[in-house]
Amino acid sequence: MHIELLELHRRVLGRVPLPWFELNADVFEKHNASGEALLRFQDIKIETSDLRLLMRQIADVLRRHGALEDADYQRIQTIGRDMNLLEFAGRWYRSGARHHSVAAIGIAHHHVSAGTHEPTDEALDQVLALAMRPWLTRCAEVVQQRAELGLWAHAHCALCGSEPDFAVITPAAERHLICGRCALRWKFESLTCPYCRNNDRSRITSFATPDGQYRVYACDECHRYLKAYDARRATRPVMPVVDSVATLPLDAYAMQRGYS
Ligand SMILES: [Zn+2]
Ligand SMILES: [Zn+2]
Repeated sequence: MHIELLELHRRVLGRVPLPWFELNADVFEKHNASGEALLRFQDIKIETSDLRLLMRQIADVLRRHGALEDADYQRIQTIGRDMNLLEFAGRWYRSGARHHSVAAIGIAHHHVSAGTHEPTDEALDQVLALAMRPWLTRCAEVVQQRAELGLWAHAHCALCGSEPDFAVITPAAERHLICGRCALRWKFESLTCPYCRNNDRSRITSFATPDGQYRVYACDECHRYLKAYDARRATRPVMPVVDSVATLPLDAYAMQRGYS
């Protein structure tokens, strides 16, 4: 399923133009001071027909793999054809903090579908997160190359305002957070929880996988955890979507220990 989703993403990515939005040291300083994300929804150059097609194809893939219920599927198809599709996308974008991890699809979903079905937008949010990814990752490519990104001191994404949902430990032993929506990476203190800012080392449980390839940072204050790819011993760069899926057993392990 994830390979098919990645293939859809790549096909559209090739057609997404580089965005233009104002980026200079002053803009970075101002946004760093306020914590406001750099990219406004209206500045993303979305080709609506591409977004419609992608939503339809993503919904097809998810349903085929049992990650989307029929009722959600029908509703998302209708929204995909809706004249106001961009309004749905804009609402999803601005709700940033409630983002849904691209890799968590199929895990989180099942507990929602169990028992009485609540009319939430969970399924729509998941599809939008996947469908908007080509545009957001293209924007992130632009920001990623800017040295000013090093000024960003927040735990949320400088570009889109979302939470990190993965991390990478660089060869210089820095921890860089990776945005769950646009995949932007930025340096953040290694032993500070990005979700509640707890930096009491005795309240952070950190452990590596036996092969040393991955590490988990679990916070004993807010009980959330973050997975990281340890690039110090790696032969390839971090691949957020692939690494998130490869570490699903770590999610199970962390959840069994009471983290979420
Ligand atoms: Zn982001
Ligand atoms: Zn925390």
